[in-house]
Amino acid sequence: MFKYRFTSLKKLAITGVSLFCLNAAAFAESEDNHSAKVAIAIHGGAGTIVKSSMTPEKEAAYTSTLKQAVEHGYALLKAGEKGEVAVVEAIKILETSPLFNAGIGAVYTFDGEHELDASIMHGGTKNAGAVAGVKTIRSPIEAALLVMNASPHVMLSGKGAEAYAAENGLEQVDNRIFDTEFRKQALDKAKARMAQASNGYGTQQGTERFGTVGAVVLDSEGNIVAGTSTGGMTAKRYGRIGDSPVIGAGTYADNESCAVSATGHGEYFIRYNVAADICARMKYLGISLAEAADSVVNGVLVKAKGDGGVIAIDGQGNIAMPFNSKGMYRASVDTDGHVTVAIYQD
Ligand code: ASP
Repeated sequence: MFKYRFTSLKKLAITGVSLFCLNAAAFAESEDNHSAKVAIAIHGGAGTIVKSSMTPEKEAAYTSTLKQAVEHGYALLKAGEKGEVAVVEAIKILETSPLFNAGIGAVYTFDGEHELDASIMHGGTKNAGAVAGVKTIRSPIEAALLVMNASPHVMLSGKGAEAYAAENGLEQVDNRIFDTEFRKQALDKAKARMAQASNGYGTQQGTERFGTVGAVVLDSEGNIVAGTSTGGMTAKRYGRIGDSPVIGAGTYADNESCAVSATGHGEYFIRYNVAADICARMKYLGISLAEAADSVVNGVLVKAKGDGGVIAIDGQGNIAMPFNSKGMYRASVDTDGHVTVAIYQD
């Protein structure tokens, strides 16, 4: 009864490959049947990301992967694909890259495994899907889409989510496929720091967490959609689940206001209901997307000492990407087809 339909996704994967190399700006100028305004923004995590700790090679790798993902999502939108498809396909590129804390490259739990969280929300239908604490699903964002499109639920966790994904044909993998040496070193560092802390936990917030990924889009039907995927926080314990799969905290979308995907110290984003608060401020205070996003990220969160940032888009395709940390991997293509990729504070 809840069987997932793969035909359209498969078709999309092929469409995606053939569109992949096309330049986003060229699409904006081309005369196609989809002249409606579309736009996209993506993030690859926020934190203490500074130029002095980056090599030119690493910077180039981040920049090119972000560009590839944002242009791919934009190309799908220009081709008239639905917003949720563009969100999932852009995020899948980031989940596949070892550079980001999602899918391959996900951070390690205290016990040396990877527990992945993801969510997606559609601003038109207000439908949403999320998975939390999954270990064997290759693409958690695909699983979140599955939950949204094919199940009567919003959030599935752990083994139940894995079983549901497997029953519906999503690829299952060994948890070890998400391993990377860089994240293993980060775990060792975090554990050493935790051993020094009086409560064995307090200082686990280090610089090892970055790379959560997300996307927000305006599609050619006028719908806005948001999605987020993450490995969470390095050395997380006891089945900890962050904001990324929590609708309202890490992801939210409402056609009447905005679509938001967050990244940062998840506990704060949950307590302050960050993504939904930005949308509510727009809706009830009648303020712009930029003002609403800034007031939460640089007002509420700074006061609470919660570090991180968001990407947000409204129904006109306006984009805001505020963050209160040193940097945030981010990229966008606006309604004019203008592409930006950035890492540090400007
Ligand atoms: N928000 C994520 C979490 O707390 C981590 C991050 O975005 O860096 O799980």
